[in-house]
Amino acid sequence: MAYKCELGNGQQVYIDNQGMQTVVTLASGGIGQQQQASTSLQTGKWNVPPTLFKTASGVILRIESEQGQSFVQLQAGGISTISGAPSLSNAEVLSLQQVEATPSQGMAPMEPMKPMEPMQPMEPMEPMKPMKMGNMEMNMNPMEMRMGNMSMQMGTNSGRRFCSQCGATVTASDRFCSSCGFQL
Ligand SMILES: [Zn+2]
Repeated sequence: MAYKCELGNGQQVYIDNQGMQTVVTLASGGIGQQQQASTSLQTGKWNVPPTLFKTASGVILRIESEQGQSFVQLQAGGISTISGAPSLSNAEVLSLQQVEATPSQGMAPMEPMKPMEPMQPMEPMEPMKPMKMGNMEMNMNPMEMRMGNMSMQMGTNSGRRFCSQCGATVTASDRFCSSCGFQL
């Protein structure tokens, strides 16, 4: 179980008792750009939850453990132990919140990238089949549309003609329709 305190100005302090150590983490900044500085102190196992004091000279953390009292000065610049008991007579006690644990340093470590699977070669596209609806026929390549006797062509297919007998696509150089044999 760790303890958390909002120090204001977007700063939080996390205090955790890990074994014989007290881990003090100062976190600042918003989500995604959070900066953390951790310090481990040999304080021993806590007897009681830690206490944070706000004094004129900064925030002071008091740890009471089997080894006695330890005082830690918390500043934006860092965390340092104080030898001896500081004057806390006019200090304001800051309320601590219990949290599961100190959040892990910064962003979660990235999972190693999976090697890329080799690209599957593209299957050759099946040629589009002409689409027929009633007396309407549509071809995709070249784009053309036929309805009854009307035909519409789109794109650069000027060399293409249609057999006047069966409507099959023929080229301008064809003399006979390849579909029905009609003489063009
Ligand atoms: Zn024909």
